[in-house]
Amino acid sequence: MKEIGHWINGKLVAGTSGRFADIMNPATGEVQARVSLATRAELDAAVADAAHAQVAWAATNPQRRARVMMAFGALINQNMEKLAEMVSREHGKTFPDARGDVQRGLEVIEVCMGAPAFLKGEMTDNAGPGIDIYAMRQALGVVAGITPFNFPAMIPLWKMGPALACGNAMILKPSERVPSTSLFLAELLQQAGLPDGVLQVINGAKEIVDGILDHETIQGVGFVGSTPIAQYIYGRAAANGKRAQCFGGAKNHMIIMPDADMDKAADALIGAGYGAAGERCMAISVAVPVGEKTADALIERLVPRIEKLKVGPYTAGEDVDFGPVITAQSRDRINALIGSGVVQGAKLVVDGRSIKIQGYENGFFVGPTLFDRVTRDMDIYKQEIFGPVLSTVRSSSYEDALKLVMDNEYGNGTAIFTADGDTARDFASRVNVGMVGINFPIPVPLSYYSFGGWKKSAFGDLNQYGPDAFRFYTKTKTVTARWFSGIKAGASLNFKAMD
Ligand code: NAD
Repeated sequence: MKEIGHWINGKLVAGTSGRFADIMNPATGEVQARVSLATRAELDAAVADAAHAQVAWAATNPQRRARVMMAFGALINQNMEKLAEMVSREHGKTFPDARGDVQRGLEVIEVCMGAPAFLKGEMTDNAGPGIDIYAMRQALGVVAGITPFNFPAMIPLWKMGPALACGNAMILKPSERVPSTSLFLAELLQQAGLPDGVLQVINGAKEIVDGILDHETIQGVGFVGSTPIAQYIYGRAAANGKRAQCFGGAKNHMIIMPDADMDKAADALIGAGYGAAGERCMAISVAVPVGEKTADALIERLVPRIEKLKVGPYTAGEDVDFGPVITAQSRDRINALIGSGVVQGAKLVVDGRSIKIQGYENGFFVGPTLFDRVTRDMDIYKQEIFGPVLSTVRSSSYEDALKLVMDNEYGNGTAIFTADGDTARDFASRVNVGMVGINFPIPVPLSYYSFGGWKKSAFGDLNQYGPDAFRFYTKTKTVTARWFSGIKAGASLNFKAMD
């Protein structure tokens, strides 16, 4: 059995704990490798070496650090197919989707190539007589990134790019279900010129996360994962005096107004609801058609599109629409939630529970599932399903639909499909959600904006990537400087005898 260890001080090293987690092949249900779960002693040693390496890295001028990002970006491009294959192999997502996973991470690295521009400070000259004030942005020191399974390349890149470009060292703790991509990215960063020890990739689960949260040397924590863990990590990191930004789960709604282009709305829902088997924090999991006629027209268009979807392993070709979910537990939980929807009175229009893929009978597949007449008290509405399940909540008016979105405890993304600019503007202005799409279903902002939800989708301050990331990964030091009149005023050019 293949054993995966850690990336420490510029080398792949075997773990010493003797404890492992299985890495599944979600398409076959088999264990394909196992990953070592680090001990606190391994973490302590990695942090100590990172702290040492960080001093010289922070003193390296920002443009040289940016050049490492440039070389890293080139290497990611050269290794795109290999990275995508790694993502698909452990996660199970389709090959084109895996390329997108790498690409959206690479775009953050591209912004980090311009890091010096974000790291410029502020200055007021002559703030008083002979007094200047300037503010510098300095690295935090050693920071940690803790990432989820669903974007094995993109989210580690969102974390490591800005943190390192700012002059920090990073302890990256990827999801124990998909560790290989992070280890390979670390190798590429070394080839790009990152000094050893500045990025340490340490594998593990809860024990090592708790070690990070309690570690005195670690100054900041960037987390992405489910809401209960995000809330826990934020609380513990903040209580220990660390800067923390913790991004959590979601329940993203798409409102479909009666004047929307119904075919385009249906196409958008298919991609946003079922792409990546619904395992995206920006997946649309709730369709909110306004008016009964709109709802009927939408369902009528969704069903034939759903019936055409091809589910299978990523190895079956690029025409596969989505693959398995991540684990057997996840599949069983999704199937149980579908069952609860039926029991609680929703109308199951398409049932994905009995899907069988020939040759992959033990894989963790769930077929595309569509519910109509879902109400807000049902578990399928209240819980983040994180599977290929789309719920339709019929709404009587725009205000009613808006209220549904606003009352939901999550606030990651939302969308509206309409032909009316006034409605769209009103929605964008009033809705209490962090990322909004107008006739655009998964509004993940490009890398020079920033990504972050509201309400229970994010804890802490500032967003991920973009300008906010450079603020999160640096602290401000403000200097007030006065120079008394010196040689300029007192110098004399006359040839004088010594007094
Ligand atoms: P998860 O919360 O189970 O795990 C995330 C990370 O936390 C992993 O590295 C894991 O090892 C660690 N972890 C798990 N349980 C822990 C515990 N009890 N104590 C300490 N650490 C623990 O999330 P996941 O299943 O890997 O990812 C899916 C979730 O991530 C979904 O809820 C999804 O919406 C969310 N997500 C959010 C965003 C965002 O930017 N808001 C992006 C992607 C995914």
